[in-house]
Amino acid sequence: MKKIIIAIDGYSACGKSTTAKAVAAALGYTYIDSGAMYRAVTLYFMRHQVDLEDEEAISHALQNIEIEFRSLPEYPCKAQTYLNGHNVEEEIRSMEVSRLVSQVSKIPQVRRFLVAQQQKMGKKKGIVMDGRDIGTVVFPEAELKLFLTADLEERARRRQAELLAKDQVVSLEEVKENLRTRDLIDTTRSESPLRKAEDAIEIDTTHITFDEQVEMVLRKAYHKMMCYQVAPCCPTKSQA
Ligand code: C5P
Repeated sequence: MKKIIIAIDGYSACGKSTTAKAVAAALGYTYIDSGAMYRAVTLYFMRHQVDLEDEEAISHALQNIEIEFRSLPEYPCKAQTYLNGHNVEEEIRSMEVSRLVSQVSKIPQVRRFLVAQQQKMGKKKGIVMDGRDIGTVVFPEAELKLFLTADLEERARRRQAELLAKDQVVSLEEVKENLRTRDLIDTTRSESPLRKAEDAIEIDTTHITFDEQVEMVLRKAYHKMMCYQVAPCCPTKSQA
């Protein structure tokens, strides 16, 4: 079957990464967590006290940042994020990084730096990438675009449980406030704000189980893969 690009966008903590990871595993595709890349840049900026108002300092810092994803034998299904050769998977998920990441993500230089790398990763297709601008900016030509949503309360509960599983005790109110703030910054920034691509399929995950989410996405993915294999079963844009 022909390989496609699957772009999954949506608000913070509505199940994008878990769904994307499971879909990629089922299809034998590469999964890329673009949020992890913004988090890694944020961690670097925090460690090196980069002034977010200083364009020159930002450019200089970006030249010294190398981000990679590596699969380890102990985590075969979950690629780890490496920043300049060091595994930072744990640190980039901390609340300290979560508090700053949307401020860093709205900097145009940072976006250009990461979008170029993400586009390179998708050159050969066979990729599932999740984020905020994947269907609109990174891969506007993606064969399948999804836009995930869920109630803020439910998203906060899920994120709090994830943090607890990593021994990070954070109140529900603090998690909710962080998600609310990030969503606001992500949707209102001038550079590639979070929005649903016109041709994206919206899925509200509030009341569906994880298995149902994955099944729904896989069904749509297989349909696209089949269509692209035995063209012309799908109408072209001009025929639709
Ligand atoms: O996906 P995750 O919640 O880990 O993303 C962290 C932050 O990174 C988001 O709140 C957003 O500010 C930024 N981000 C982005 N564009 C992407 C992915 C993430 O701006 N494609």
